[in-house]
Amino acid sequence: MSIKNNLLKILDHLPKDISLVAVSKTKTNAEILEAYEAGQRIFGENKIQELVPKWNELPKDIEWHMVGHMQSNKVKYIGEFVSLIHSVDSLKLLKEINKQGLKNDRQINCLLQIHIAQEQTKFGLNEAELFELLDLEEFGNLKNVTIKGLMGMATFTDDTEQIRKEFSYLNSIYLKLKSKIPEANLLSMGMSGDYKIAIEEGSTMVRIGSSIFGVRNN
Ligand SMILES: *Cc1c(COP(=O)(O)O)cnc(C)c1O
Repeated sequence: MSIKNNLLKILDHLPKDISLVAVSKTKTNAEILEAYEAGQRIFGENKIQELVPKWNELPKDIEWHMVGHMQSNKVKYIGEFVSLIHSVDSLKLLKEINKQGLKNDRQINCLLQIHIAQEQTKFGLNEAELFELLDLEEFGNLKNVTIKGLMGMATFTDDTEQIRKEFSYLNSIYLKLKSKIPEANLLSMGMSGDYKIAIEEGSTMVRIGSSIFGVRNN
């Protein structure tokens, strides 16, 4: 199937109030344009060095999301244009994002990444760390950062009940966050293999790569 057909098939089954981030990491400009021409406007990348040239070369009405782990010294390359950073997991990173927001005279939208999977390798805060962070005075001073919600990745497993449990837990944290930050209205959870479960468990934004663009070779 073509990229266009893959995309349209997913959109056909996606509830209208759920946003789709087309994760285009490792994919070429031509492949991204095929999805763009089918109407897709939100694209996600996980490496700054790939995101910046794509932003430069592709249509300016694309909303670029950063979905991968980031080092603070790289934020300066995307501060001017990034629409949403999904993967914020430290005060240090938030402070740098705020600094770049200030420098570019804009608000930078962020999601805080929560660790919900069993794997040790996945980044993110735990629930206690999240609420400690939100209570810090320093956090309150970050005027050029807007916290829009949470992101999480489930364990890579065939055990759908395990995945469901993790997404349901993330949704419970998201509901607590909303009672503190009412404008936080995004819950980014669900990828190609598990987005249907994520939607059933309260996701408002899914990040889909391989089901749109085909499997990645690298
Ligand atoms: C690669 C990636 C995705 C998309 O994964 P697929 O399984 O190809 O849909 C989603 N989120 C993050 C953070 C990613 O790095």
